[in-house]
Amino acid sequence: MAQSSRTERMGRVRSKRRRNSTVIGVVAALLVLVVAGIAFFAVRAALEDRRRKELAELREASATIDASDVPTSTVPVEVPLLVGMQISEAELLVKAAGLTLIKVPTPPGEAVAGIVLEQTPVAGVRITVGTPIELIYADPAAVAAATSGALSSDAPASGLVVCIDPGHQAIANTGTEPVGPGASETKAKVTGGASGVVTGQAENALALTLSMKVKERLERYGVTVVMTRTTGAVDISNAQRAQVANEAGADVFLRVHADANTNADITGVSTLYPSGNDWVVPIEAESLKAAKLVQDAMVASTGANDRGVVPRADLAGFNWCTVPAVLVETGFLSNPVDDKQLANPEYQDNLADGIARGVLQYLGVSE
Ligand SMILES: [Zn+2]
Repeated sequence: MAQSSRTERMGRVRSKRRRNSTVIGVVAALLVLVVAGIAFFAVRAALEDRRRKELAELREASATIDASDVPTSTVPVEVPLLVGMQISEAELLVKAAGLTLIKVPTPPGEAVAGIVLEQTPVAGVRITVGTPIELIYADPAAVAAATSGALSSDAPASGLVVCIDPGHQAIANTGTEPVGPGASETKAKVTGGASGVVTGQAENALALTLSMKVKERLERYGVTVVMTRTTGAVDISNAQRAQVANEAGADVFLRVHADANTNADITGVSTLYPSGNDWVVPIEAESLKAAKLVQDAMVASTGANDRGVVPRADLAGFNWCTVPAVLVETGFLSNPVDDKQLANPEYQDNLADGIARGVLQYLGVSE
């Protein structure tokens, strides 16, 4: 009896202890949940706070610009990261920054409807207000547009013609031609072009790759693109290339090249335009206008060193031209960094985006 009641008592104590430890366990688990919850909301609040600050900074940047007498295009704004956002949200952010937006719908594939898939310029690049940001976003309705829109007669750039000349050719022609109509001074018909100091890539092949990418982008807007060549296996002089543009009645003649210098440290992009002789007087002003737009857009889309626009009086490809003409130097094949970037398909896409955007701006084509 005494033995059994002691056992009972011990049993009660044990079960009380068990109950106590269960209660402690539950309380501990709740505490962990509460702490985790607090941490989650704290992190989320911090992220939202950061986002609000970024937005406020962008607003402030655009407000500062509005308030000042400085031309708006001279105050650079950092491009925010927009990829991964919903297009509606990205639109608000871009507008808040006082920037212009070009929306390009694309069939969504596996992507979530409305999500921003690609942005040009990329995040972090500083651009001037007025330089548009292009966002490619997933749109289930874009399937029909992609198949019929580009070819329809109401495409935004329908009726506009761009002649693209990928610089050089696989085998140079060192025969000579007059540097301009009626000139006694002559120049090589077409030189061999540069080659990559690291990659060994040939300028004529790179120029063709870039040109085809620009062509594709312009055609999305309904622009008619006339190519001076679509292979390296041609023999067309620079004067003849200009005449292709003239005969096409091109609204602009776009020549695509890469640069080279004996100083391997020199890097960056420039855009040449005809200036400084009687032949190019009729096209100089329009060419300069196009050159500035193309140069700015190319710098914005790549973040490359800006070497500006450069007047040239000595190029047969300009002097024989009767339509506005520009020549993009897309980077230095003599510089190891530029050379490697120029061989990178993603970088080529960024370059092509910028060049095409500049051309479209010059043509007055908007979204
Ligand atoms: Zn060249």
